[in-house]
Amino acid sequence: MEYCNLCPNACNADRTASAGVCGVDDRIRIAKYYLHPFEEPVLSGKNGSGTIFFCGCSLKCVFCQNYAVSRAERGKIISVTELAEIFRELEERGAHNINLVTPTHYAHRIIEALKLYRPHIPVVWNTHGYETEETLAFIAPYADIFLTDVKYFAPETAKRYCGKADYFAYASRAAEIMCEKPLIFQDGMMQSGTIVRHLVLPQNVEDSLRILDWFAPLKDKAYLSLMSQYTPFGKIDAFPELQRKITKREYHKVLDHALSLGIENIFVQELKSSGGEYIPAWDY
Ligand code: SF4
Repeated sequence: MEYCNLCPNACNADRTASAGVCGVDDRIRIAKYYLHPFEEPVLSGKNGSGTIFFCGCSLKCVFCQNYAVSRAERGKIISVTELAEIFRELEERGAHNINLVTPTHYAHRIIEALKLYRPHIPVVWNTHGYETEETLAFIAPYADIFLTDVKYFAPETAKRYCGKADYFAYASRAAEIMCEKPLIFQDGMMQSGTIVRHLVLPQNVEDSLRILDWFAPLKDKAYLSLMSQYTPFGKIDAFPELQRKITKREYHKVLDHALSLGIENIFVQELKSSGGEYIPAWDY
């Protein structure tokens, strides 16, 4: 953590002393933990996914629905021991898995906590996808399930919305590595494997179609989660195209393309999934 290069920002920050580009130093900061009922059904099941929201982010999309969390404007600092206790508590409350949301900038600390207490339920590494191969290799022994975004295809799109023109190069390679995890289910719940999420954005259908073309060869190795829940949020005044939800026509154009590519392992969302009521109330 003295020369942090955990993510492609490679900012070399001394996080024992100050924050990196991800906005946080090496102390674990969380905004909430609870049994999340609205993840994909193979993760949330009937009891919920034991979800922990970590503060800070190495990507920082302008429309982030968890804006105050990703910018580390809020949150509570906890110790490695307390994090291990949260794993245990969520498991005892019946969680189907431990779902670590935007965790990679705390990878070292999370792995320390998993060494203190390794839950008997799957660990989900829930990431925006902007990951390096080196960090993935470090994480992989501790993650049973990868839940990864592939958000943008075109460098211009990624540059516009998160300032990282190389997003797809990193996220696609990371997802291809993640998809090597074997798909294993038990009683309808995912125990191992990868779900690739893609959020359809207004006026960005072409980007979505190219992402599906990329995903098609992986379609038997992983699940696709095609999300329609985009809601105008964050700092988007300078982005007129982001001021509305997506239309039914946009979503169905993307979904039809997925089906035409023979992608059958797919989760779809109803358009009514968009809206602020699905953003959790933060506890810290
Ligand atoms: S995890 Fe944070 S500190 Fe480390 S390289 Fe990425 S942005 Fe920089």
